[in-house]
Amino acid sequence: MDSQNKIHSHSSVSMICQNCKNDFTIEPDDFSFYEKINVPSPTFCPECRMIRRMVWRNVRSLNRRECGLCHKVLISMYSDKEAPVYCTECWSSDKWDQFATGVDYNFSENFFIQFSRLLHKAPRFFNYRSGNLINSDFTNYSVDNKNVYLSFSTIENEEVMYSETIDKSKNCLDCEYFVIGRNCSNCFGCVGLTNAKYCILNKQYEKEEYFKMVEKIKNHINENPYIDTKGRVFKYGEFFPYNLSPFGYNETNAHDFFMISKEEAISKGYNWKEKEKRDYNITIKSNDLPDSIQEVKDEILTEIIGCPNEGNCDFQCTTAYKIVAEELNFYRQKNLPLPRYCPNCRHYNRLKYRNKMKLYHRTCMREGCSNEFETTYSINNPEVVYCEKCYQNEVS
Ligand SMILES: [Zn+2]
Ligand SMILES: [Zn+2]
Ligand SMILES: [Zn+2]
Ligand SMILES: [Zn+2]
Repeated sequence: MDSQNKIHSHSSVSMICQNCKNDFTIEPDDFSFYEKINVPSPTFCPECRMIRRMVWRNVRSLNRRECGLCHKVLISMYSDKEAPVYCTECWSSDKWDQFATGVDYNFSENFFIQFSRLLHKAPRFFNYRSGNLINSDFTNYSVDNKNVYLSFSTIENEEVMYSETIDKSKNCLDCEYFVIGRNCSNCFGCVGLTNAKYCILNKQYEKEEYFKMVEKIKNHINENPYIDTKGRVFKYGEFFPYNLSPFGYNETNAHDFFMISKEEAISKGYNWKEKEKRDYNITIKSNDLPDSIQEVKDEILTEIIGCPNEGNCDFQCTTAYKIVAEELNFYRQKNLPLPRYCPNCRHYNRLKYRNKMKLYHRTCMREGCSNEFETTYSINNPEVVYCEKCYQNEVS
C-alpha cells in the first residue's frame, strides 16, 4: 500500500498529469476507492488514462494473417508478425501448450520489458470472439452473433452489417497486467491464457508461492519502474505504457475518440501504424456508381469499388470495398443509394457527429433555472442545453 494514499485520503489533492502536464484533482472518494482495491493513486489525468487504455484496444483495423498452426487465412486485429495468431479451432485444441511461452520472472530486469517480450511471443486468439458465432468471420469483439459482417463490439446479433455497438467484458477475475485471456483468476503479467490460475508471465506457480512472488514483483516494479522515451514513469498500478501496445494509435479506439495526426502521435511517444500498400484491382470508381438504387444491377456484387479517399486520410481507408448480397437487398428494400466510401471512411465520418469524450461544467440554459451539470456539449456548441428536469418538462 502506498502510504501517500492514506495521508491524503481526507482531502482532495491536485496533481500534475505525467503525460499532458495539466492539473487534475483526486477526490477523497477516489482515494478510498484506490485504498479498497489496494492500488496507488493515479499519476495521469483521467483523459490521458482513458487514451492509454484505448491505445491497447484495436477493434476495426484488420489484417490478413495465417493461423500459426493450420495455416488457414484469417482476418485478424493483430498485424504484429512476431506473435502467432490461432484460428478458433486451433485455439481451443490440444495442438499447443499455453504454458510453452512461460518464463521465470527475472528480478534484474524491468517487469514491463519482460511482459512486452512475452506479448510478442505468446500465441493469441486471432480476434476477440466468443460464444456461438455463425457466419460471422469478419467481426471483432464479437459475441454470439449470426450472419454479422464487418461489425465490431457486437453481442447477440443477427443479420447485422457495418455496425459498432457495445461489447461484453471478458470473464476474468482478479487478474493484473493480463491480456486477452479467458476465465482466469489470480494471474499476473500473462498473455492469452485460458482457465488458468496462479500464473506469472505464463508460468504456473503453487498458490502460496504465487502470492509471495506477486508481492515481491510489485516492490520490484516500484523500485525499477519503466520509464518511456518521454520520461513518463510506470510503477506498479499503472496501466501498460503506450509504446508497448501491439497496435498503432491510429488503429485503436483512441484514434476514434481523440483523433490526432501522425506527427502529434509520434511527438507524444505513441505507436503509429504506417499505411499498408494495398493493390486492389479496382473495377469501378465510386463516382461512377448509379445515383439511384433502381439502376443498380446484380453485377455490382462482382465489382471492386474504389474509395474516393484512396487511402489519403487518417481514417484507416481500405482504398476499395465490395457490396455483399444481403447489403444490396437491404438498400433495395429501403430505397437507399449505394455507399460511396469504404466502411472505415464511413465509420470515421459518422464519428464526426459524436461529441468528444470530454465533460464540461455548464449551467442550464432555460430561463430562470440555475441547475449546474456536466455535459459533453461545450460552450462553443450551438445546441441549447437543459438540465434533466427542464429537458423532461420540455419534451413530455
Ligand atoms: Zn493528462
Ligand atoms: Zn488453425
Ligand atoms: Zn476509404
Ligand atoms: Zn434546468
